[in-house]
Amino acid sequence: MRELTSPSVVKDIINTYGFRVRKALGQNFLMDANIIDKIVNAAELTPGDLVFEIGPGLGVLTQRLARSAGKVIAVEIDKNLLPILTETLTDFDNAQVVHADALKVDFDRLAAEHTEGGFGKGAKSFKLVANLPYYITTPILMHLLTSGFNFDCLVVMMQKEVAERLQASPGGKDYGSLSIAVQYYTVPEIVTRVPKTVFFPAPDVESAVIQLTRRKRPPVTLESEEVFFKVVRAAFGQRRKTLLNSLTGSGLAEKETWIKILEEAAIDPTRRGETLTIEDFANLANTYHRYQE
Ligand code: SAM
Repeated sequence: MRELTSPSVVKDIINTYGFRVRKALGQNFLMDANIIDKIVNAAELTPGDLVFEIGPGLGVLTQRLARSAGKVIAVEIDKNLLPILTETLTDFDNAQVVHADALKVDFDRLAAEHTEGGFGKGAKSFKLVANLPYYITTPILMHLLTSGFNFDCLVVMMQKEVAERLQASPGGKDYGSLSIAVQYYTVPEIVTRVPKTVFFPAPDVESAVIQLTRRKRPPVTLESEEVFFKVVRAAFGQRRKTLLNSLTGSGLAEKETWIKILEEAAIDPTRRGETLTIEDFANLANTYHRYQE
């Protein structure tokens, strides 16, 4: 089998198939065996795992996943990669490629289809491992977190700045509504930073691999998740304003109502949204929710 971590092999495959790399699809192929090991180790794969991959590309990560997991289902949007994947995955009976847009895939249903008597029958846990196409990092993450997909962990490579936002704590410039959404559902941990040089073609930005382990239960008690995320977005709507002004600017309630809500929740209205912890947001959202009833 040809080594997909070798730049000359990658270029040879691309030329042989007359494949045109599409920047618009976030196509930067990883060529570093050490980074691939770090990604696969962070997923702690066992033969009982059914692993999903988004964007297998030429199949470099897919091959490693197939060696360690029970089954791999890789979702690829670019049909021009399918004949290449047929060749690179030919030795792996436990890997299957699905031609689809990952943003439109119902992963929970796909998992169910593949466990009930199907290809991944007997799988004990679901994981998702991917070197993500960066142009859709945030929507893909939100899709995976909020769609009811019952994964144990996600190990994903993304733009370094986005990974830092996912792990950020209150008070810093990186902390925002994405940090809170991710930390509500998972425990994030950056596994490694990745230089541009290990990709073909090299991307414009540095990357990082992050492990997101699903929480068994949420870190806070909410009366409504929907209201919680609305209030979080409202608080970060205008970052340079005070919490009171930002919340008022969101149009969710009148200024007078927000003053009462903040007082009842014992939160100083002159604070900035980015100083609030997830517990503060839960308190604020639950108080707001009661005012709506
Ligand atoms: N896994 C390969 C690797 O590590 O070398 C390729 C990673 S490359 C950064 C991203 C891959 O995602 C490409 O193969 C691209 O075609 C695919 N892709 C882009 N948008 C997608 C989408 N909406 N759904 C599924 N795959 C997508």
